[in-house]
Amino acid sequence: MFRIGCHISASGGYLAMGRRIDALGGNTFAFFTRNPRGGAAKDIDPADVDAFLAFCREKDIDRIVAHAPYTLNPCAEKENVREFALNTFADDLRRMEHTPGQYYNFHPGSHVGQGIEVGIAKIAEVLDQVLFPGMTTTVLLETMAGKGSEVGGRFEELRAVMDRVTLSDKLGVCLDTCHVWDAGYDIVNDLDGVLTAFDKAVGLDRLKAVHLNNTKNDLGAAKDRHEKLPDGKLPLEAIRRIVTHPVLEKLPFILETPNDEAGYAAEIALVWQLHG
Ligand code: FE
Ligand code: FE
Ligand code: ZN
Repeated sequence: MFRIGCHISASGGYLAMGRRIDALGGNTFAFFTRNPRGGAAKDIDPADVDAFLAFCREKDIDRIVAHAPYTLNPCAEKENVREFALNTFADDLRRMEHTPGQYYNFHPGSHVGQGIEVGIAKIAEVLDQVLFPGMTTTVLLETMAGKGSEVGGRFEELRAVMDRVTLSDKLGVCLDTCHVWDAGYDIVNDLDGVLTAFDKAVGLDRLKAVHLNNTKNDLGAAKDRHEKLPDGKLPLEAIRRIVTHPVLEKLPFILETPNDEAGYAAEIALVWQLHG
């Protein structure tokens, strides 16, 4: 089953998200577990979740990729920032169990001058504290553009984090097409080469989701600025190769392009058409 969707506002609750993505023509989606800049999450309404799960079964909506807030930095130097990351992560993973078997995606973080090794160790430490036996959610580390001191611009860095985590079978990777391009992986001219590099470094069995974005930047710019699918540096033909690639087409594709809802509906339709 090919799956395409986009970011949906969580402000109306779960059933509203399901209805929204269905109306936009998608069959998977992403949402922020709380305000992207942090803060408390809304209380879960069990009746709303039940109605949502029934709706998803009826419409075959699945492989939801929840997104942690951007401010969550598990390798921050400041103790209070790491404390926030730890508490938010743990709370989000408890909440995710209301919708069993889905994905929770996070940015590995920025080490801000502490060095990549310290960054990797700190991220793994947080994961060791928040993952729990019996959890049904898979936690996804997102591939990053390598902007500033971001961890995760190289596939090997993601692997290094995963290797240090005790319950590493709960971990996977979400590949962001804007980020990997900005990080220097040429998915336009050598998609197979990039996937081979991923396989060597991490293992393709760990690849669970794709953030499907175009980019405003040149290859290797290390900048991270998303663009609408038909615009930007990745030609539509390259996007077609991505969504039809035998390894990738089994994964949920999530648009994080700069769009309003009408724009998302149009891009979802475009991706269905590209996939054929
Ligand atoms: Fe992200
Ligand atoms: Fe992303
Ligand atoms: Zn981004």
